[in-house]
Amino acid sequence: MKKCSFCGREEKDTKLLVTGVSGNICDDCIAQTNNILSEEFKSVSKNKEPEVLLKKPNEIKEFLDQYIIGQDDAKKYLSVAVYNHYKRINQLIDKDDIEIEKSNIILVGETGTGKTLLAKTIAKMLNVPFTIVDATVLTEAGYVGEDIESLLTRLLQAADYNTERAEKGIIFIDEIDKIARKGDNPSITRDVSGEGVQQGLLKLLEGAVINVPPQGGRKHPDQKYIQVNTKDILFICGGAFDGIDRKIGNRLNTKVVGYSASKDSEGVDRKNLLQYIAPQDLKSFGLIPEIIGRLPVLTYLNPLDREVLRNILTEPKNSITKQYIKLFEIDGIKLSFDDAVLDYIVEKAIEFKLGARGLRSICESIMIDIMFESPAQNIKSFKVTKKYAKERIEKANIAKLKAS
Ligand code: ADP
Repeated sequence: MKKCSFCGREEKDTKLLVTGVSGNICDDCIAQTNNILSEEFKSVSKNKEPEVLLKKPNEIKEFLDQYIIGQDDAKKYLSVAVYNHYKRINQLIDKDDIEIEKSNIILVGETGTGKTLLAKTIAKMLNVPFTIVDATVLTEAGYVGEDIESLLTRLLQAADYNTERAEKGIIFIDEIDKIARKGDNPSITRDVSGEGVQQGLLKLLEGAVINVPPQGGRKHPDQKYIQVNTKDILFICGGAFDGIDRKIGNRLNTKVVGYSASKDSEGVDRKNLLQYIAPQDLKSFGLIPEIIGRLPVLTYLNPLDREVLRNILTEPKNSITKQYIKLFEIDGIKLSFDDAVLDYIVEKAIEFKLGARGLRSICESIMIDIMFESPAQNIKSFKVTKKYAKERIEKANIAKLKAS
């Protein structure tokens, strides 16, 4: 009579008895041991602190190159800043006591040029908690909107409430330009959504111990706070700063006049003034000097031209076309795109003024029918031609495309 070697039950009393070399195990005992195993592994993974995977600046840039097309200057600045930041965190207490300051970053560039993608990719590479927050939802405490502390609540959530990990994470603050003070002069009346929020952010950027409500929401006397030190959190801010090119232009001109036709005026690329951005331009836009001081790494992103858009479709490691090809491959279908289709998609993205963000929605409209039909059909390959794409786009709801 075979018995379970763990609980002793006879085979007839079990649903299943697995026989080994010198013993047997029943279904119940398998289930129990499985629970023990998963509990065990859970506690091991909790205790083991995942390391921040630090690479050298050139390696960081190489990693970014796999996912982001162009934007070489931004990548270079970001790679160095991130490298220095994590070097600073890992720095042992030095005898000479030279304290390396935090290198928070500000990225200036039109929407859809890859600011968020850059920050996200860096966090992925480093394996640190990462969160994206829109500066427009932030308000001073006591007003409708989210308190500044909510940034940290989200980072804590991204870190599974592991405070130590959160304290080495990255927060991406999008639309930082929207909390700029209106106009260059400090306003006399209190500015709820602008300067007040900037003042609030300042504390976080500088590094401070903040009481964070773990579930977010308003501070409440009964809620237990988690203390988070922001000293080692890297802040990356992004904004389109619409119209800042005029301020840059003005500044460059003034300088030229001052130096009476100095060589500075020559070689200035008037089409892309953003590349000359300097901290004083952020000040004329309405960021307070203290904030600018706490975002010492300032860099810019180029607008995406036709060629870059075309490359975005095919080049990145997880490019849109590669994703579709993979999806079809799973069904055993070899998918390919005619070159003319790719040009057509770019053309439409430009025509609809959708930028890189629109490439995906245009592709979806083209692919929806074949994705619906192909799993039921017995086809081995499918080629997306320009004619096919054109028919789909003309059929698609253009208004919907434009809105997305
Ligand atoms: P931003 O934050 O500047 O508004 P995003 O980073 O959110 O822009 O970019 C939107 C989308 O456009 C990204 O998810 C990505 O698919 C695509 N994209 C934008 N710029 C690039 C780029 N330089 N390389 C690859 N993809 C890009």
